[in-house]
Amino acid sequence: MAKKAAANKSRQHVYFFGDGKADGNRHMKDLLGGKGSGLAEMTNAGLPVPPGFTISTAVCTIYYEQKAKIPAAIDREIEQNLKKLEKAAGATLGSTENPLLVSVRSGAKFSMPGMMDTILNLGLNDQAVEGLKNRTKNGRFAFDSYRRFIQMFGNVVLEIGKDAFEHEFEAVKKSTRAKLDTDLNEKALREVVARYKKVVKSKAGRDFPQDPHEQLKMARDAVFRSWMNARAIEYRRIYDIPDHIGTAVNVQMMVFGNTGDRSGTGVGFTRNPATGKKEFYGEFLINAQGEDVVAGIRTPQPIRELEQVMPKAYAQLRQITTRLEKHYKDVQDFEFTIQDERLFMLQTRSGKRTGHAAVVIATDLVAEKLLKPKEAILLVDPESLNQLLAPGFDPDEWKKIPTATKGLPASPGAASGQVVFTADDAVAWTQQGKQVILVRRETVPDDIHGMFVSQGILTATGGMTSHAAVVGRQMGKPSIVGAGALEIAESAKQFRVNGKTVKEGDYVSFDGLTGEVKLAQVASHPSEILQVLNKTLPAKKSVIYQRFEKLLDWADGVRRLGIRANADQPDQAELAYAFGARGIGLCRTEHMFFGEGRIPIVQRMILADNEADRRKALAELLPLQREDFYGVFKGMHGMPVTIRTIDPPLHEFLPKREDLMVDIAKLEATGQSGPELNEKKRLLQRVEQLHEFNPMLGHRGVRLGITYPEITEMQTRAIIEAACRLNKEGMKVVPEIMIPLVGLVKELRDQKAIVDRVAADVMKETGVKIKYLVGTMIEVPRGAETADQIASEAEFFSFGTNDLTQLTFGFSRDDVGKFLRIYQDKKILEKDPFASIDTEGVGAVVRTGVQLGRKTRKDLKLGICGEHGGDPASIHFFDKVGLDYVSASPYRIPVARLAAAQAALSVKVGD
Ligand code: ADP
Ligand code: MG
Ligand code: MG
Repeated sequence: MAKKAAANKSRQHVYFFGDGKADGNRHMKDLLGGKGSGLAEMTNAGLPVPPGFTISTAVCTIYYEQKAKIPAAIDREIEQNLKKLEKAAGATLGSTENPLLVSVRSGAKFSMPGMMDTILNLGLNDQAVEGLKNRTKNGRFAFDSYRRFIQMFGNVVLEIGKDAFEHEFEAVKKSTRAKLDTDLNEKALREVVARYKKVVKSKAGRDFPQDPHEQLKMARDAVFRSWMNARAIEYRRIYDIPDHIGTAVNVQMMVFGNTGDRSGTGVGFTRNPATGKKEFYGEFLINAQGEDVVAGIRTPQPIRELEQVMPKAYAQLRQITTRLEKHYKDVQDFEFTIQDERLFMLQTRSGKRTGHAAVVIATDLVAEKLLKPKEAILLVDPESLNQLLAPGFDPDEWKKIPTATKGLPASPGAASGQVVFTADDAVAWTQQGKQVILVRRETVPDDIHGMFVSQGILTATGGMTSHAAVVGRQMGKPSIVGAGALEIAESAKQFRVNGKTVKEGDYVSFDGLTGEVKLAQVASHPSEILQVLNKTLPAKKSVIYQRFEKLLDWADGVRRLGIRANADQPDQAELAYAFGARGIGLCRTEHMFFGEGRIPIVQRMILADNEADRRKALAELLPLQREDFYGVFKGMHGMPVTIRTIDPPLHEFLPKREDLMVDIAKLEATGQSGPELNEKKRLLQRVEQLHEFNPMLGHRGVRLGITYPEITEMQTRAIIEAACRLNKEGMKVVPEIMIPLVGLVKELRDQKAIVDRVAADVMKETGVKIKYLVGTMIEVPRGAETADQIASEAEFFSFGTNDLTQLTFGFSRDDVGKFLRIYQDKKILEKDPFASIDTEGVGAVVRTGVQLGRKTRKDLKLGICGEHGGDPASIHFFDKVGLDYVSASPYRIPVARLAAAQAALSVKVGD
C-alpha cells in the first residue's frame, strides 16, 4: 500500500474541463468515473457543459487509506483547479459581488443511480446570497438556491434527517398559504433559510459553515464517505461491482433552472428504455433545479412539450443528444438544465434498459448501420434476456397491491394462483382445472410432479441453488426461494406472513424477477417468445421474436463454445433445441424414475435383497427407460446426447422415515393388519438400512454402479437399444454414456467394461452397429487431480461443477444458505460459488482436469454441466480454459449463447 501511495503522488489527481477543452476523455472512466469522463468527452466535443474539474477515484482510495484525510499536495492541486474554474466562470467562490456557485457530484465508474450523494449551490453564505440577488436582480431565486443548499448540505454532510428540513419548509408553506414550492416568494424563502440554520445549529451542534472553502472540503469528503454508505454497498453486492474502485468527485459551476419561467431542468433518453422504441423520451420541469424532476415534488411534463415552451432549446437538445448517441453508439441517458433559455448539458451515459429494450435497440442500431453485429452483441446483458422469456403481470395492476414479503428471485416470471402445500395437492387441484402456487418450507426431488403443474414455486428456506431454484429455472417456472418471513405450517395447510394468515386455496401472486410476494390474484400471460417456440404463435407475427433470433444468430456466428442443454425428458429436449441448444450435456436418468407409475418399480428394485429380484424389477424399468431415451434422442434431432447413469443415493426414491412411522402407527392404532402394514414395515426397515449420515458423500454415483452392476447393465441396454432403433430408422445418434462421481480410474474401468460388454451384446442382437462414447463426470477433486489416468479410459469429461464446488470448498450446497450471506457481508466471499464459479479455487481444479486430461488424450471432449453452465461470468471462464461446450438448462440457452459470444469477443459485461 505504501508503494501504491508513493506511485499516486506522481500522478495527476485532478482533471479540468472547460472552455472547449478537457484533461480527460471517454476512455478514462476508471479514473474519472462515468460522469466525469462523460463531462470531459462532451466538453471536448464542443457541447455546452458548465466548466469544472474532476477529483479522481484514486483520491477516494487515498482518502480511505489515510483514514479520511486528503494529503496537502492534493488539496493544493484542487485549489489550483478551483482558481482555473473561477477564471473560466468569471466569478469567485464566496464573492459578495459575483459569487461562483458549484455542485459537488459523486460519480463512480459504474453508474449507481441514487446510491451516492451530490450537493448543489455550494459557495453560498449569508453575504454571497445577497451578492447573487444583486447580480441577478432575483431575490426569490437567490434564496431558493440558498435554502436548497443548506438542506442538501445539512442532510448529506452534517447527516441531519431530511424530515427536520421538510417540517420547517411545510410550516412556512402553510403559513404563507403556498401550494407549490415555486409559490414561495423571497420573504418566505428568507424565513425558510433562517429556520434551516436553526435546524443545523440544534441538530449538528454547530453553525452552518460560512466559509465556502471549508464547505467544499466538507462536501468533497462527504461524497467520498457516501461510497461506503449501506445502500451503495448493497447495490455493489447485487451488481457485482468491486468495493475498491471508489468514486470520483466532480466540482462543477452551477447553472440554474430555477431562475424563472424561461428556465428549467430535465432528464431523458434518446430511445425508450422500457420498449426500445426510437423515440425521444423524458421529462422536464419549468423553474426547477436538479433533483426536482426525480424527487416527485411536482409532476414533471413529458419532454415533447418542451418543444412548445422553448422551441430553440428543444431543437438544440434534440440535435445534441442525437449526436451523442451516434458518438457513443448507444442509447444515451442525459441530464440538462436550461438557464434563461440557454441549454447546458450536465450528464450523459449509456442508458439502463429492460431486456426487451436491449434486444430492440441492439438490432435497430445495426439496421441503422451505427453498429456492426459483433458490436451489437456486446450491448445486451445476457442475463437480461431472461426477462423476455418470463410471463408478465400488467404493471399497473401489480403496483396497486402491497408487497407482503420478499424472497430470493430464483426464477423469473409472474406467477399467480391458489396456495397448496403438497405436491400431490398441486396435481389434484390442477386436475380440477385450478391454477396453483406450491408453497413449501423447502422442496425435495419427489415434489417434482407438483412443481411441474404449479404456476410457481415459493419456499421459505434454501438459496439460489436449492432444489426448488434449480428445478424452477430448468422448468422455466417462476420461483422464489428463501422467503424467510413465511411461517409455514404444512400440516395445518396455512402460513403466516407479517401478521396475515394465508390458507390453502387463498390467492398469492409473485414476481420471480424481483422476489416480491403479494397476497392477491393478478392475471399474467406467457411471453411472446415462448409462444413462438411452443408453436402457438407464428414467428412472422412476433417482431420481438424475430429480433431475439437475429441477435442470437449473430452470437452463434461469433462464439467458440458449443451450447448444450441439461434436459431429461423429450419435451425438454425439444424445447432446448428450439432455444438453440445443439446437444444434451446432461440427461439425468433418475428424474425419469419419478415419472408416472415408476416409483413402485424403482422401490421394488431397491427393496430387493437379492440380485434375482433386483433384476426382475430392472427388467420392468428397461422398456420405460428405452422409450425415454428414444424420445430424448429424437427431441435433440440426432445431436449428441450425454446420458448419466444413476447418481443419487437410493433413499431419495423411498418415502421419508418419519412419514412411514406415522403411517404404521395409524394402521396399528386402527387395529389393521395385513399386507399394507407389512409392506410399510418392510419399507421402514429398508429405509433405516439405507440411512446415511452424509448421503451426499455416501452410497451414490459410480459407487451404486459398482455395487449393483445390474443397474448399469440395464441403463446401458436401454440407451443402446434406443440408439440402435433410431439408427435403423435413419437418425444417426451417437450416445455418450457418462459415469458420475469418478475419483479413481479403476472405478471407471469397472463400469466401462460393463458398458462395452452390454453394448456389444445389444448390437449383436439388433444387428445394428453404432458408435457410442464412454466418459465421466469430473466432480470429485481426486478425479481432476488424476485426470491423466482417467482420460486413458474416458473419451470425454464433463465437469460437474455443483459437486465439484461442494467438494472443493467442503460446503454442502443444501446447507450453505445458513452462512453464505454472512460470508458475503463480511467480504470473505464475494459471490455465491454455487451460482458463479470460483475461478481461483474450483476453477483451478477444472484447469488441472483439462490440462491433465488433454495430456493423455489430445481429442478429449470437454464440457461442463453444472449450474454454472448458464452463468455468464462462469461461461467466460470456461471459454478461456478451453472447454468445448457448456451445458445449461433449456431456459438458460439464450443467455449461454450470448455470453459465449461475448466471451469469444473477450469483453465482460459492464466494461
Ligand atoms: P446523480 O448521480 O444522483 O444523478 P448528479 O451529480 O448527476 O447526481 O446531480 C443531481 C442533480 O443535480 C442532477 O439532476 C443534475 O443535473 C443536477 N446538477 C448537478 N450539477 C449541476 C450543476 N452544476 N448545475 C445545475 N444542475 C446540476
Ligand atoms: Mg445524474
Ligand atoms: Mg454430481
